[in-house]
Amino acid sequence: MSARLEVRLTFRLHSGIHVTGEQAQLWTDKALVRSWKDPGHPVLPATTLKGWLRESAERLLRGLGQPACDGSRPGAMCGLCLVCELFGAPRRRSTLRFSDAVLAESRTDVRMNVSLSRHRKTAYEERLFSTEVAWQKELTAHIEGWFGSRAEAQQAAALLYVAARAGFAIGAARSRGLGWLKLKAFTASVDGKELSDEDLVAQSKALVSQTESRA
Ligand SMILES: [Zn+2]
Repeated sequence: MSARLEVRLTFRLHSGIHVTGEQAQLWTDKALVRSWKDPGHPVLPATTLKGWLRESAERLLRGLGQPACDGSRPGAMCGLCLVCELFGAPRRRSTLRFSDAVLAESRTDVRMNVSLSRHRKTAYEERLFSTEVAWQKELTAHIEGWFGSRAEAQQAAALLYVAARAGFAIGAARSRGLGWLKLKAFTASVDGKELSDEDLVAQSKALVSQTESRA
C-alpha cells in the first residue's frame, strides 16, 4: 500500500522577491531566476522553496526537542530523522518532490544597492550593484510525495503546514527586506482526498504530543 500526497501552498507576498539566477543580463548584476519553459517569467525555484521549508521544519522540530539534522551540513546528516526522510540526505532521496513556482503575473524592476566592505575599519570600500526584483501579489507552490501509508502522508502534510506558517521571508535578499511572505491557503490531499482543516490541525497537534511523549 502506498499513499500519494499532493500539497498546494498559496502565499501572500508583502514585498518584492529576489532569487539570483545564473543567466547574465545586460545592466543587471543580480538577475532573477527565470523559468526554463518560459524565459519571460521569473520563478521561485523548487530548490529555494525546499531549502526554506526544510529550515523552518528543522527549527520547529528542534524547538520541540526532536532530532532534526542541519540541512546546511550534508556530511552530518543522519538520513533517518523526519526532515532527512522528507527533504533528503546524502544517499537518501527525499520523499517529497517540489516544483518551481512561476511568477506569471509579476512585474519586475531593478534596485540599486550599495555593498560595504566591513573588513577595513578606517575606509569603507563601497560597491554599487543592481538587483532585479519581481513583484506579485500571491505565489502558489506545489509539492507531491509518495509514502508507505496514509498516516505517514498525513504526518508529512502536518509538518509542511506548520513549517510554511512559521517561515517569514524567502530568497537571497532577505536582509535587504525582500522575500516577505505569509501563508494564505494550504490544501493537502492524500490519494485525491482532501484533508480538512480539522485533520491538519489534529495532525499538527499529534506531531507535537508525539514529541512530548518521546521526550
Ligand atoms: Zn537526519
